[in-house]
Amino acid sequence: MSNDSCVFCRIVANQATANILYRDQQVTAFRDAHPVGPTHLLIVPNKHIDSLNDLQDEDEGLMGYMFAVARRLAAKEGVDQSGYRLVVNTRSEGGQTVFHLHLHLIGGRHMHWPPG
Ligand code: AMP
Ligand code: ZN
Repeated sequence: MSNDSCVFCRIVANQATANILYRDQQVTAFRDAHPVGPTHLLIVPNKHIDSLNDLQDEDEGLMGYMFAVARRLAAKEGVDQSGYRLVVNTRSEGGQTVFHLHLHLIGGRHMHWPPG
């Protein structure tokens, strides 16, 4: 289900421009417009899901698949050995600003823990 007012649905539907690195029937991956590291990709399900809170039981495989795609893209970006971070921000206090589920893949620089 695509949502015209959702920027990530528009990217998935080729109605908004993005630097797309990977696409298949289930997911699309593209570079974040405001990267916080040398590598900053977003992996999104092609179907609209507001947030992790809205994931249905039948979508758990999809979430696992998003991680598998992230692992492959990390290798392709050359950050698999140096390391990277996968982040799913959820709702207000989690820092979510785009309400279409997405996995951030950030790498290419050292990151501290815990986040600020
Ligand atoms: P979040 O804060 O977890 O919801 O992350 C949303 C991310 O989407 C932010 O890092 C934004 O920089 C990124 N973003 C928003 N609009 C676009 C866009 N049109 N193309 C690429 N990245 C975007
Ligand atoms: Zn959407």
